[in-house]
Amino acid sequence: MADKSQSWKDNKPGKMFVDQSCIACDACVLTAPNNFHMHDEDGHAFVAKQPSSPEEEELCKEAMEGCPVEAIGNDGE
Ligand code: SF4
Repeated sequence: MADKSQSWKDNKPGKMFVDQSCIACDACVLTAPNNFHMHDEDGHAFVAKQPSSPEEEELCKEAMEGCPVEAIGNDGE
């Protein structure tokens, strides 16, 4: 389970976040490209935009469930 205290500072504030266990596999970026971007220099994904539509919510949920190391969290804030 993702740990918000370990989340990257690049995440846009809000309920979704990526923590430091991310292995930069790119899956979330491919699943929800509006919301997840890759920080190429640092080698990790981050939340570039919080979901703001039902479609984005669905894709972010899919991305969270698909993350192989459970680095994506949703604390519902
Ligand atoms: S799916 Fe998980 S491990 Fe892969 S890039 Fe996204 S947050 Fe990182």
